[in-house]
Amino acid sequence: MTKLETSAANWVGNRIYELSEIPEPGREWTSSEANIDDRILTSLMNRGLVNRVAGKRDDSGRRYYETKPKLYDAIQTYKEQHKETDRLLPCDDPECPGSGFRNIGDGQLECRYCEQVHDQEDVQ
Ligand SMILES: [Zn+2]
Repeated sequence: MTKLETSAANWVGNRIYELSEIPEPGREWTSSEANIDDRILTSLMNRGLVNRVAGKRDDSGRRYYETKPKLYDAIQTYKEQHKETDRLLPCDDPECPGSGFRNIGDGQLECRYCEQVHDQEDVQ
């Protein structure tokens, strides 16, 4: 199995929430199907982590892509390693890393990833 080099693995880890819906290798997908914005998609292309499917577009003219196995493996590995650890917030979404927040005042913290608002008192 090819592993990602550290810098690429760190990049994936920092964007795990945006990448969490990326389809498994062998499927062709558009950015809207995978819920990935164009900025992230461009980076994925530049880093060689996805393949563009030549000549195929959907009805809206969106291109199709394929996830490379090394990217998919890195995402799965990251999720396993960070399931319970590093979670600061008790978010309802089990996929949310809950590892960062914004203080929005009045003792309320907003999750940087899923935008759920928590009372500061509920956060350890
Ligand atoms: Zn969250």
